[in-house]
Amino acid sequence: MTDLDVAIDLLVDKERLLVFTGAGVSTESGIPDFRGPNGVWTKVDPSEFTFDKYVTRPETRRRSWQMRTDSGIFEAKPNAAHRALVDLWVAGLLVGVVTQNIDGLHQAAGLPDDVVVELHGNVRAVECLECDASWPTGQVVKRVEAGESDPHCPDCGGIIKVSVISFGQAMPQQEVEKASRLARGCDAIISIGSTLSVYPAAYVPIEAQEAGAAYLIINQGPTEQDHLADVVLEGAAGEVLPTIVVGLT
Ligand code: NAD
Repeated sequence: MTDLDVAIDLLVDKERLLVFTGAGVSTESGIPDFRGPNGVWTKVDPSEFTFDKYVTRPETRRRSWQMRTDSGIFEAKPNAAHRALVDLWVAGLLVGVVTQNIDGLHQAAGLPDDVVVELHGNVRAVECLECDASWPTGQVVKRVEAGESDPHCPDCGGIIKVSVISFGQAMPQQEVEKASRLARGCDAIISIGSTLSVYPAAYVPIEAQEAGAAYLIINQGPTEQDHLADVVLEGAAGEVLPTIVVGLT
């Protein structure tokens, strides 16, 4: 039996699969991850990008806008892994996708908004931190590309920020509760493309497993929860996942 066969065997009698995704599910769409061999944190120091530094240092805001526009996240398209998850959902086997990603590619591939739980927000909107104003991110990106390296709110002059959760910010309560409910109700959890090192998000697979779910990890490189999983598959999400989904549907 190959490792893939063992993984399919683990899931074949399961009917309520929950998927937990990280940055690695989107690298094949051209968006760099954080901690992989070519990840963003091999080039810059994460402690420079906390929420506190964003609000107090113009230089941090300038670098954040520059890194986002350079990352390709605004133009990226879903890849084979995102599409395989849509097939799983169409087959009626997927109860949800809890994602740490902010790129919106699960929904762009075709998953309905209410099937995707975004623990770290998303890049679709920019918000003013002082007043209630918000804008589609594309509008603000145009201002940055036109030369405004640290754009502010046109209404009140406040600091503006993409509606994602930075280090030092709490996760959205409603999303956390939904993720926890899904974790307790699934019969298998599949973690894809995550080092499983960012907490509290990485508690989601642990919660599912403690409630009795089978646990499969698909990742390139080790994760912090390999010792907890029933099966660990080393490989590219866009290659491994479609094979598994074909085996289950
Ligand atoms: P991470 O960078 O810690 O881990 C990514 C893991 O995926 C690494 O082990 C890497 O080797 C692996 N990987 C890379 N490409 C892969 C592929 N094609 N197939 C399988 N595995 C692959 O990322 P994380 O665990 O998600 O945590 C980091 C934080 O990164 C999250 O909070 C998230 O908000 C943020 N993030 C999001 C994006 C995005 O939205 N696309 C991009 C970068 C970072």
